[in-house]
Amino acid sequence: MGDSIKQQLDDFMETVIARNPGEPEFHQAVYEVAGSILPFIQDKPIYQEARILERMTEPDRIIIFRVVWEDDDNRVHVNRGYRVQNNNAIGPYKGGLRFHPSVNLSILKFLAFEQTFKNSLTSLPMGGGKGGANFDPKGKSDHEVMRFCQAYMTELERHIGEDTDVPAGDIGVGAREIGYLFGQHKRLSNQFTGVLTGKGLEYGGSLVRTEATGYGAVYFLEDMLNHRKENLAGRTAVISGSGNVATYAAEMIAELGGKPVTLSDSSGFIHDPNGITGDKLAWVKELKEVRRGRISEYAEKFGVEYHAGKRPWGVPCDVALPCATQNELNADEARMLVNNGCIAVSEGANMPTEQGGIDVLLGNRILFAPSKAANAGGVAVSGLEMSQNSARLSWEEEHLDEKLRSIMRNIHKNCVEYGTEPDGYVNYLKGANVAGFIKVANAMLAFGVM
Ligand code: NDP
Repeated sequence: MGDSIKQQLDDFMETVIARNPGEPEFHQAVYEVAGSILPFIQDKPIYQEARILERMTEPDRIIIFRVVWEDDDNRVHVNRGYRVQNNNAIGPYKGGLRFHPSVNLSILKFLAFEQTFKNSLTSLPMGGGKGGANFDPKGKSDHEVMRFCQAYMTELERHIGEDTDVPAGDIGVGAREIGYLFGQHKRLSNQFTGVLTGKGLEYGGSLVRTEATGYGAVYFLEDMLNHRKENLAGRTAVISGSGNVATYAAEMIAELGGKPVTLSDSSGFIHDPNGITGDKLAWVKELKEVRRGRISEYAEKFGVEYHAGKRPWGVPCDVALPCATQNELNADEARMLVNNGCIAVSEGANMPTEQGGIDVLLGNRILFAPSKAANAGGVAVSGLEMSQNSARLSWEEEHLDEKLRSIMRNIHKNCVEYGTEPDGYVNYLKGANVAGFIKVANAMLAFGVM
């Protein structure tokens, strides 16, 4: 990056930080995007004069509300609910809901901002949004989770709709929570519409949605390797997380001939050198989705190593997939991956790699798939769920998987188009940022000044 662009980036970030104090995750996400977009718009005054990047960093609106619910002992609890409606230039706001004690405005603004570019990359008509609450479903009974979801939706209902804003799941919001949220929306609105995605198959959900994010992150990884005339067969994969994204990423790694050897949760990671596949992976899904247990139980059950309080990036591997949460891979850990021979990183989680880690990976010419490209498969199939709901139809699994495959391939192609550097190295981060930006920016230009 030249000195003048660096100065522009610093000046731009100064205003973003001044306008959004105390929001480090949001600053980080904006910095990562602006670092690609400012050089791209240097010779395009049309975007500069309309101040498109500045407008994109200011959400359309943010809704913050109180959520009050009673636990099983009739004690009253107060949580904070949010919905960040970031940008609807190319379609209704779309993005998940996160229930986790760490949820705050900075995290949701970063997620909604990222979502805007990601949704644009899918080529489907979806704007960007994100929401959630600082509620921890862990350790709560089903009835407590139900009462919380109903209280949360009682306020959110008036702000969303199938053509306005269509939330989905994220960390802490899976099939159970979506069921409670959809039920409450239906009761309040007296309408059965596709207002949420990730629904159960019995009430308007789509086949392949559950698998889509994890599968998509692996499809993208395979596309990056194929672009270098390599593939996943025989490759060892280190994966973090053990939720929806991580388990389906592991499943697809194995399907394409690779070997996933780690999974983690917020308490530590397990290392199974023989591979976490087949029955063992099915056991993990049951552990996490039904029994809601801890990944340490895998070590006891299958007699492998458990590393309490640690992350898995020191385990030698060919490819790495961070699939738990933001900022879970720092510069030192990225260096460990490089030194151990890792050739590619595909981000299943949102912004899991810290800026310092990204610098290490790009500096070492590692294939790096940023989350807005790599994990776009989930929202892509959510978009297909919206189409099916509008048409009151259900598509076949094969058709949906083929669609997911072709959407991921198209995202890869666009990243190559905008991210290939003179020496042939593909900077997927730059490619994804620029490709995602163009569609939203052009739509905003079409609407005039607003
Ligand atoms: P889940 O709730 O199913 O699983 C989350 C996993 O990450 C769990 O193993 C959890 O462990 C771990 N985790 C959560 N917070 C932390 C933390 N602070 N430190 C360490 N580990 C943590 O969520 P998903 O799999 O759905 O989401 C994972 C990531 O993928 C998120 O970044 C999400 O935004 C992103 N994503 C998800 C999509 C989807 O379709 N589900 C779509 C696109 C992106 P524990 O149980 O101990 O909390």
